[in-house]
Amino acid sequence: LLEQLADKLSNNHALTFEEYERLIARRTPAMAAGLARRAVAARKAVYGDAVFTRGLIEASSCCKNDCFYCGIRRSNGAARRYRLSADEIVECAHTGYDLGFRTFVLQGGEDSFFSDDVLCGVVSRIREAHPDCAVTLSFGERSRKSYERLFSAGAERYLLRHETASRELYARWHPADMSFDARMRCLSDLREIGYAVGVGFMVGAPFQTSADFARDLRFIETFQPEMCGIGPFVPHHATPFAAYGAGTVELTCYLLSIIRLIKPNVLLPATTALGTIAPDGREQGILAGANVVMPNLSPVAHRKDYDLYDNKICTGEEAAECRGCLGARMLSVGYRLVVDRGDMAPASSAC
Ligand code: SAM
Repeated sequence: LLEQLADKLSNNHALTFEEYERLIARRTPAMAAGLARRAVAARKAVYGDAVFTRGLIEASSCCKNDCFYCGIRRSNGAARRYRLSADEIVECAHTGYDLGFRTFVLQGGEDSFFSDDVLCGVVSRIREAHPDCAVTLSFGERSRKSYERLFSAGAERYLLRHETASRELYARWHPADMSFDARMRCLSDLREIGYAVGVGFMVGAPFQTSADFARDLRFIETFQPEMCGIGPFVPHHATPFAAYGAGTVELTCYLLSIIRLIKPNVLLPATTALGTIAPDGREQGILAGANVVMPNLSPVAHRKDYDLYDNKICTGEEAAECRGCLGARMLSVGYRLVVDRGDMAPASSAC
């Protein structure tokens, strides 16, 4: 029966809510291997053996939000707060360009220092210096006007994980001043403005069930994001969720394979969180259907302070080392990092 679901998913790129729930709740190692095989074939048909890189620049550990899972939440009085200056961010992008990055992801907490004027200035400086590069922003929820201004300044992509497609679960993970509706409003604004949009969710976070994942997968089917960032929940010692266990490589990879089959051309990162819970987590992610890695370009002096969860990897390495290490890891499983903006391929394209 599960085999029939895998066939249906591969052919139709869609299942019902109940079918997704069953596929997840009744998964077996054999099923995971079969889905991974199909996912790898689907990805190879679109992207060959290329893995795209994005240079991640962690611009600020200051955040006005208080998400129960996140180490940089505003109530964490022990968090070390920093913010990069506009010049420092642009400098990171220059370093990244010389290393072969053609996409820069600027990410940070929701920090009022990063006003539209400041961010637009940074985006246009990077775009002017490197017209062959894409700039992705990930600064959380902002007004539609703000998203419009940033888009006009040259940011073409925006990552805003939906976190969960379940309204109830969203309310258990966030304080009352954050809302599921606000998040969905931001995502639809980003889509309407014309961004390439990234959604995503954590795997194995507190209270999450197979039904919640089924909702996430149905959401991905309907929203059709260009990018989808999923990674295991990893507890942070100074948060309300400190005592919960981390998500698993196994379930994260299983979901990566399903997402690849829902949308064969989606840009799907093997995340740092996946590399944090297992030494070969990112390689396993690629072998399950992911096609993007995001080496860190942030200045080493601040790396440890973008402390979303415990034991985060890659906090001590220079950018070049980080890229070199990931390049070798990809080669070890038969893939190669490419110097490319890494735009989403058209739906029907095949290598
Ligand atoms: N402020 C921006 C936003 O909210 O989109 C970007 C920064 S936010 C820290 C980036 C992502 O980190 C979140 O979307 C969340 O899914 C992930 N994250 C936060 N805490 C985590 C944890 N304990 N384990 C795994 N991922 C976590």
